Amino acid sequence: MENPYVLLTPGPLSTSKTVKEAMMRDWCTWDDDYNVGIVQKIRRKLVELATTSAGYTSVLMQGSGTFSVEATLGTVVPNDGRLLVLANGAYGKRLAQIAARLQIDHLVEESGETAPPDPATVEMALKKDPKISHVVMVHCETTTGMLNPIEAVGDVVKRYQRIFIVDAMSTFGGMPMDIAALGIDFIISSANKCIQGVPGFGFVICRRERLEACEGQARSLSLDLFDQWRTMDQSRGKWRYTSPTHTVRAFAQALVELEEEGGVAARNARYCENHRILVEGMEGLGIRCLLPRALQSPIITAFYNPDSPDYTFKEFYTRLKKSGFVIYPGKVTDVDTFRVGSIGHVFPDDFRALIKSVRESMFW
Ligand SMILES: *Cc1c(COP(=O)(O)O)cnc(C)c1O
Repeated sequence: MENPYVLLTPGPLSTSKTVKEAMMRDWCTWDDDYNVGIVQKIRRKLVELATTSAGYTSVLMQGSGTFSVEATLGTVVPNDGRLLVLANGAYGKRLAQIAARLQIDHLVEESGETAPPDPATVEMALKKDPKISHVVMVHCETTTGMLNPIEAVGDVVKRYQRIFIVDAMSTFGGMPMDIAALGIDFIISSANKCIQGVPGFGFVICRRERLEACEGQARSLSLDLFDQWRTMDQSRGKWRYTSPTHTVRAFAQALVELEEEGGVAARNARYCENHRILVEGMEGLGIRCLLPRALQSPIITAFYNPDSPDYTFKEFYTRLKKSGFVIYPGKVTDVDTFRVGSIGHVFPDDFRALIKSVRESMFW
């Protein structure tokens, strides 16, 4: 069955036919064919994608990406710890929301939705407050598409010897990085973003000794990242509770396809080209980007909605959907925007066709 439209959204996103086909078989949660053959290979591959350094491990967790973020914060920050949250958009705010709900002692540094977190502010906070034990931030803030300075912040966090947690949900697998070089202790992403799998689970890649120190700390049973990891590690790939077998199988296929494409660098080059065609095309039609180039990621782009009394997002959305493209509403609080993602099984030709459709659907 062909899809009637491509998803230009930040997840779930368009997947290949072969990734979808990989789900057409049933697997047993307890069987070695599944655990050893698929889950353990995935866990190893994720670590390879994250770093060339030794001492790192990975754990998969049921649920959407937020579940893995919640599992990480709820397991990793001890009762006597204090978390510094850097927020500049909806996903940064969600980190703070999770901390509040779990009653984790935390502080929030907000830099505003159109400004990146400032490493100097982080340094001041860490210098002033030795109780801060952990720092968490978002890599690409999907609200705006802003690429946050994880390298500069990681540098500060490392110098002050605190634990660094990064929500790289919308970048992992789509942008080259080495988490050891970046000083990241825990990095979180999910199946249905740049690896181009289907939704159903998230994953955390971390320094093994950091996770080993977290036994008994979790504030939740099902979202206990340590227990989940220990079971997976000691029982050779077994999940604690029912695992999303079909989703996991699709993810294994998606990893093969990432390799066939040429790895993360090649995927990043495709996303960058998608993004370039998108931005040049939109600007050519008078539709302006929210962010300056220097702050913009190739992952997702926020555009100002056209300033015309005849324009409505709903009408624009409906017309584009009819011509085969699903775009995304805006999420910025005080600016009127819409968003277009460049990630997933989508290619430069899709973006050329999108621009043509935008030109033809301009009713304002
Ligand atoms: C997609 C995303 C998440 C997770 O969202 P879910 O809906 O729970 O999958 C978290 N952080 C960022 C930056 C994201 O882009």
